[in-house]
Amino acid sequence: AIPLVMSRSTSIAATNGLIIRDNQAMENSRKIDYIAMDKTGTLTEGKFTVNGLKSIDSTINDNKLLSVIAGIESGSSHPIANSIVQYAKDKKIEIANFDDVQAIKGYGMSGKLEGHEYYLVNMKYLKNENIPIDSKLVQTYLDKGNTISYLVADKKVLGFVALGDRIKKNTIEFIKELKARNITTIMLTGDNKDAAATMAKQMGIDEFRAELLPEDKNKVIKQLELSGHHVMMVGDGINDAPSLAAATIGVAIGAGTDVAIDSADVILYNSDPFDIIKFLKLSHHTYQKTV
Ligand code: ADP
Ligand code: MG
Repeated sequence: AIPLVMSRSTSIAATNGLIIRDNQAMENSRKIDYIAMDKTGTLTEGKFTVNGLKSIDSTINDNKLLSVIAGIESGSSHPIANSIVQYAKDKKIEIANFDDVQAIKGYGMSGKLEGHEYYLVNMKYLKNENIPIDSKLVQTYLDKGNTISYLVADKKVLGFVALGDRIKKNTIEFIKELKARNITTIMLTGDNKDAAATMAKQMGIDEFRAELLPEDKNKVIKQLELSGHHVMMVGDGINDAPSLAAATIGVAIGAGTDVAIDSADVILYNSDPFDIIKFLKLSHHTYQKTV
């Protein structure tokens, strides 16, 4: 049977935006000295604004560029994709009808249109494939923390789109509260280093690792745990499920995906990272009463 204080805690949890799937998590919370967090959708809203869109090739103008980019993104449910498709609709741009699109995990998308193969990918992909790009063209966007996707065909960059995301309203306060508890904060992201550095600084986060593939996030968690730390991992997407499972406590943000929820010990159903502070307080009170 569940001890009385515990079942009371569970209903208090529900009024604080928490679903505690594993009561062991409350007991383990005392050990946590590291909190690893996904960036997009966890610390930020995950709703991107298009801040720049530019053709850098004479064969394509800005409207056609947007048409193609939105077409390739129609096959994705990534927050970046949703924002770009909505932007094209708002601008009343006809969205190109791709035959076939595919996700390239951690890099972007590819697809076929009128016999041509297009890629909408990040800088990491360009580096891997030795596709040249003059970084001066995008530096001002990078300095402001933008995420940049490049449209590529025949190993040539045709243009780019720069997107900005907003920090959630409670993120900075949340990080401050963790600091006050001597918990080290680390942000894990698939995004580029410049965007990650800018965002981490604005949020007051101690450490960050950028350009990570989902399996890399998992490795970071495992390494921290192996070196004696007790890690709480907070994330959302399907990609984060292995890292949630590897951490001492896995916290899923929002309704999330079924896979992420299955791997999580705690769910924050209001998608508010500050509810983690409520979880820590609640756990503390519960175990003061039971021990
Ligand atoms: P994170 O959740 O840490 O941002 P993801 O694995 O979801 O990581 O994405 C990593 C990077 O891959 C993004 O920053 C972006 O550059 C690229 N990417 C992923 N999906 C898309 C997409 N649909 N359109 C454009 N870029 C994408
Ligand atoms: Mg994510």
